[in-house]
Amino acid sequence: MFDSLSDKLDKAFHVLKGHGQITEVNVAETLKEVRRALVDADVNFKIAKNFTNTVKEKAIGQNVLKSLKPNQLMVKIVKDELTDLMGGDAEGVDLSGSPSVILMSGLQGSGKTTFSGKLANFLKTKKTRKPLLVACDVYRPAAIDQLHVVGEQINVEVFSNKEEKDPVKIAQGAIAHAKQNGHNVVILDTAGRLAIDEQMMNEISDIHKTIQPNETLFVVDAMTGQDAVNTAKAFNDVLDFDGVILTKLDGDTRGGAAISIKSVVNKPIKFIGTGEKMDAVDVFYPSRMADRILGMGDVVSLVERAQEQYDEEEARKLQKKIAKNKFGFDDFLSQIQQVKKMGSMKDLMGMIPGAGKMMKNMDIDDDAFKHIEAIIHSMTPKERANPNIINSSRKRRIGKGSGTSVQEVNQLLKQFSQMSKMMKMMQGGGGKKMMQMMQN
Ligand code: GDP
Repeated sequence: MFDSLSDKLDKAFHVLKGHGQITEVNVAETLKEVRRALVDADVNFKIAKNFTNTVKEKAIGQNVLKSLKPNQLMVKIVKDELTDLMGGDAEGVDLSGSPSVILMSGLQGSGKTTFSGKLANFLKTKKTRKPLLVACDVYRPAAIDQLHVVGEQINVEVFSNKEEKDPVKIAQGAIAHAKQNGHNVVILDTAGRLAIDEQMMNEISDIHKTIQPNETLFVVDAMTGQDAVNTAKAFNDVLDFDGVILTKLDGDTRGGAAISIKSVVNKPIKFIGTGEKMDAVDVFYPSRMADRILGMGDVVSLVERAQEQYDEEEARKLQKKIAKNKFGFDDFLSQIQQVKKMGSMKDLMGMIPGAGKMMKNMDIDDDAFKHIEAIIHSMTPKERANPNIINSSRKRRIGKGSGTSVQEVNQLLKQFSQMSKMMKMMQGGGGKKMMQMMQN
């Protein structure tokens, strides 16, 4: 997402390579490049200038440690400053009320409805939370229907009332409904306009004043660049909101909004939206975002996502099967599905340091596993449990059934058998055996 910015910063740091110390002279060029890169990424000019001034103050005269090169030190200083600029520590959402009421605000199309769904879905996985989604848009029946679709998708109840034209009354009705039905979080999805207008501001301000939500969030499309910052300011003047949700950071976003918003409205970015699907949401960590901007990847997020998807019970069952030599293609299939749940291949690769750049011009096929899955689906349950019985006529049938070739079937069988062997070795404390095998 920040490819062009990180490329430019990379070049800017390169200038410093080969120098022993950071001085006013040799750092000037780098800072100019950093500033230009930030402005190009849609960061407000004043913010960019303040930013490079602070970096300069911190950098000049610093004795470069023997183990560090000046360009590395600069990356570190810039990273720390970027982190500070975007908000320091990650901040959560206030869920203290009973029910806890969360109000969404923002322009139409910013991603309010989608994020309301994502948040409900996110909270639902924390077993103690039972969210209720509320459609407070009294102008667009389609918006109400859209929230119902989202609710069905994630299996969360949606409260709406197409007859009622007062959003405050709908919200009050929803809170009463939540109390009666044991919902402990109420998410109010409100109407948005294409541009800020007085009526819209009055309406949301009315809801805000009457309902007094625990948390008011401002949702904004990161692709709108400088406009995102201006809209944030207008909403903040009226609502004094608690946090920002930056959506559509998966697109060709230049990312300036993430860098500027915090310093303009002085409110933290709490979540980021990274796609249209309900699980395409991440807690916003300023430090990780700074890493991403600098092209250092986001290993921590990757590890966390993997952990989230990792089912311990399943893993134990799997271990037993491997130990008993009973690992079959059905297990393999469920492993593939686990990997796929972690997100798109491209997303995952983008989080690996160094991979971001490499992958930029590559088209990663999200269906990389499609053929493998098709082949496995064409096997009979017996064949899946015991691949040894797959002879040539069976291979031909599987190839035909999956629209692949016998070679591809052979290849998969070979890979599978190698993998099973390796897993067995790792199980039996066979680190040493494994090393031997790798050397052979
Ligand atoms: P609302 O009018 O503020 O409720 O906005 P919607 O939730 O209807 O979103 C507008 C459009 O943006 C829809 O097509 C969504 O699928 C899309 N959208 C929302 N969030 C994201 C995101 O994080 N990434 C991408 N790529 N699309 C998003």
